[in-house]
Amino acid sequence: MSHLPAGVMREALIDTTAITENVRHLRRLTDSDVIAVVKADGYGHGAVRSAVAALAGGASRLGVADVAEAIALRRAGIDAPILAWLHAPGASFAEAAVFGIELGISSFDQLVAAAAAATADRAVAVHLKVETGLGRNGIAPADAPVVFAEAARLERIGKLRVVGIFSHLSNTSPADDRAALDRFTEALALASSLGLTPPLRHLAASHAAIDLPEARFGCVRLGIAMYGLSPFADRTSADLGLRPAMSLRAAVAAVRRVPAGQGVSYGYTHRTEGETTLALVPLGYADGVPRAASGGGAVRIGGETFPVAGRIAMDQFVVDVGDHPVAVGDEAMLFGDPTLGAPAVEEWADSAGTINYEIVTRIGPRVARREVTR
Ligand SMILES: *Cc1c(COP(=O)(O)O)cnc(C)c1O
Repeated sequence: MSHLPAGVMREALIDTTAITENVRHLRRLTDSDVIAVVKADGYGHGAVRSAVAALAGGASRLGVADVAEAIALRRAGIDAPILAWLHAPGASFAEAAVFGIELGISSFDQLVAAAAAATADRAVAVHLKVETGLGRNGIAPADAPVVFAEAARLERIGKLRVVGIFSHLSNTSPADDRAALDRFTEALALASSLGLTPPLRHLAASHAAIDLPEARFGCVRLGIAMYGLSPFADRTSADLGLRPAMSLRAAVAAVRRVPAGQGVSYGYTHRTEGETTLALVPLGYADGVPRAASGGGAVRIGGETFPVAGRIAMDQFVVDVGDHPVAVGDEAMLFGDPTLGAPAVEEWADSAGTINYEIVTRIGPRVARREVTR
């Protein structure tokens, strides 16, 4: 029987060796440079440790959404190139420039703001993001001639360094992704005709990096797959040669023997069928265990797997373990590496009607992350 360290009620174990090995594996598989995506606190795994682990596995650059996330990595001592691609309206890029953050540019206004942050001895590095069908940000095809021409001019006068051109796919279907890939190729040709031939071109995130070799362009942005999770509904981590880096577990906080007919948790949506044992797990929706998974999910206790009984509350939920011997302090494992016996995070995602990305990313701040290596 596994136990948590004394005094620890709940924790997420982060296997940084798994992140390193996943990046190494994907780099080999895709034969591409890797931009390791560590936005949203490294999908809940911890941005700094995830960045360090990914760089150790051969990633050459990092990607985040916000400039603030990028600066936090710099302040933590990370000196690899970092790209940030989502900006507040009217943002000044002065601080980003001081920290040497590369900026994803989705509009003419952002291009001008980036150039304004340049100093006499320092150009600002940018990656031009083009819209290829996702319908989010990115330079619209109609605006591309003007934005590219201005980017080329600003590069010539030493204000900007255009390091990359990129876009993002919808993963709707192979045909939709191929259509977006064609639009991307057209944008690259236009850029080239206007004098822009940046060293990096990147389109593929995890899904296309693995499944659509034509989308690799020698550089891929990897998020979910480097954390060891599958971007595909029909393929597991193990199918892809990946190892999930996060495990979530808690120490059983109370055990109670109850008769038949006992209601469990708010609304009594579960009533015991016969005499049974109820185990209390101190993790709730405040910790990112989705309330929508009430009555579902999967909890491994003492070598057996049980669903949640009744509703998940803010801080806790109950498992009906029948006559299985369970004691206070026993480990309740919610998810981890299935090849080591833990439930898959996808069991929680399926129960909650969401995806593995959302489950790991929303694990809350009350859950201590503890780094483990193998
Ligand atoms: C989040 C994000 C990624 C990473 O996507 P995964 O599916 O997790 O690999 C890559 N590129 C952009 C622009 C993103 O926003």
